[in-house]
Amino acid sequence: VRIASFRRDGAPCLGLVSDDGREVRPLDVPGGLLSLIELLAQGGEMPPAAAALPLERADLLAPFPNFRRNIWCVGRNYHAHAKELSSSVFKDAPAQAWPMVFTKVPECVVGPHDEVRVPGDVSDQIDYEAELAIVIGQGGRNIRRDDAMRHIFGYTIVNDVTARDVQVRHQQWDLGKSFDTFCPMGPWVVTADEMDAPTADMIFDIPSLIETVSRGITLYPGDVIATGTPAGVGMGMQPPRWLRAGDRVRIEIDGIGFIDNHFT
Ligand code: MG
Repeated sequence: VRIASFRRDGAPCLGLVSDDGREVRPLDVPGGLLSLIELLAQGGEMPPAAAALPLERADLLAPFPNFRRNIWCVGRNYHAHAKELSSSVFKDAPAQAWPMVFTKVPECVVGPHDEVRVPGDVSDQIDYEAELAIVIGQGGRNIRRDDAMRHIFGYTIVNDVTARDVQVRHQQWDLGKSFDTFCPMGPWVVTADEMDAPTADMIFDIPSLIETVSRGITLYPGDVIATGTPAGVGMGMQPPRWLRAGDRVRIEIDGIGFIDNHFT
């Protein structure tokens, strides 16, 4: 099923989205998606859905309106992307035995059709990254790769918006990746039973990522792991192409849908 967070009469609400994406059947889960994931992870049943309402794009929120944890992110996880940035971001990166992992602060998450603010006073190299993101269901620590798929609740889309100049100059990526509004997410979460996780061209597959991130660190229900961008980012173009106020970025993943954000 597809589970969306949306605004209804000014308040955040959770619901099941129809196949055509135009209607939503509200679920009575006061704590939102996090509470639903915890309920289902404990063996509870999906609550009954109410009558369908029209779902306007403008009403969609990020799947989790309030995150309690940073977003886990993976850098350099597609062969073609590693190649396109081999002379810039990944210039000094050693041969890769382990995934590169960083985080984005939870406050930078915005909805699937919200505005992204270009911080023109801080950076003039704003770029996008189109990513499949995993939503953790059952939490755990030291999750083995053979068990990893059982810990996935579902999948969503993330735009890992990045200030490239800031990313590169600090050696460490959190600053250049965590500007306000730099993590559009949505349009909803597709549950894992409906999707085969794509792994073509990935350097580290999804079970490896879950195994890595959970080493010595407990993952909790609702944690999100963005799995890295494929090739095609602005920095990899010749010459590089940066985002400006007025641009729109649309990211679509088969089996999920799309997010579409206006940069201002
Ligand atoms: Mg990324």
